[in-house]
Amino acid sequence: MRRCEVVAWGEPLVMREYPTPEPKGTEVLVRVTACGVCHSDLHIHQGYFDLGDGERLVLEERGTRLPFTPGHEIAGEVVALGPEAEGGVEVGREYVVFPWIGCGHCAVCLRGEENLCPKPRFLGAYEGGGYTDYLLVPHPRYLVPFDGLPRELACTYACSGVTAWAALGKTGIQRDDQALLLIGAGGVGMNALALAPSRVPGPVAVADIDPAKREAALAAGAARVFDPGDPAAAAAVREWSGGGAWAVIDFVGRPETVRFGLSCLVPKGGRLVVVGLYGGRLPLPVPWLPLRALTLCGSYVGTLADLRTVIRLAQAGKVPPIPITRRPLEEANAALEDLAAGRVEGRQVLVP
Ligand SMILES: [Zn+2]
Ligand SMILES: [Zn+2]
Repeated sequence: MRRCEVVAWGEPLVMREYPTPEPKGTEVLVRVTACGVCHSDLHIHQGYFDLGDGERLVLEERGTRLPFTPGHEIAGEVVALGPEAEGGVEVGREYVVFPWIGCGHCAVCLRGEENLCPKPRFLGAYEGGGYTDYLLVPHPRYLVPFDGLPRELACTYACSGVTAWAALGKTGIQRDDQALLLIGAGGVGMNALALAPSRVPGPVAVADIDPAKREAALAAGAARVFDPGDPAAAAAVREWSGGGAWAVIDFVGRPETVRFGLSCLVPKGGRLVVVGLYGGRLPLPVPWLPLRALTLCGSYVGTLADLRTVIRLAQAGKVPPIPITRRPLEEANAALEDLAAGRVEGRQVLVP
């Protein structure tokens, strides 16, 4: 088997050969058929998240070790089961791998929120991920069938799909006169636009600095698009939404985008949900929180139940597909470069 690995933080990934592992216990051996290239793979490749003012959250200090195989949007075919791998998965069938795996026995995991487990074993973030041709999955329960969907699309639901779905659920929007603004029309933002009609009844607008991404968002059903680089954009959002968006989801996560999102919200009672991990630090007038009855929250990926829901919706034809670019696994470095340079529409998917 081959793995495309980070051998030094920020340096080009290197393809290396390994013996194909045997599944033990409850493990399942999967032959990877597609793996999406997510924006957080850029941070994982660099080895840190930018906390602003020169501070960094260093991945090695929280347990991510070199050499490291990124990739958490994984689809693959089951090729072998460990002796205790019971759970109804079939050899020869393809599944999406749920990567946000926790310890499996703490209170958080037991209530179904493994993505929030304090002892995570996330594939492609703490444990090796899908930039490879074979992968061990700890238990069959993390495999979700996606019959009827293209594998290059289905794999994106493991991160950008569940992340979008969970963030939409945090907007609190319940009526069709409550507008939602999405900031950032990359892979996650586009999946949010595609999933929004299934989760929020109000109109959805998209803000992105890239005219090509705004075009793509319009074509995918955005009610309006805005250029956050335009100084008049926030006023235009407030006018379009009849006084301000009830919620904003920021899929970029820079101080500039959070500031822009806050200026687009209704004067009181609005919610800003931050998903993007671009980085930086933001000074915020504290009295805004009570005076504007403002809710600021973060949303981090999603649950196994969210993944099953998103795949069910997609199978029912309720999730328009996002644009996909297929690339061979050998092009992982070029894919990361293109993503960092903002040259990608929708999602790039590596195919071993
Ligand atoms: Zn991701
Ligand atoms: Zn746990």
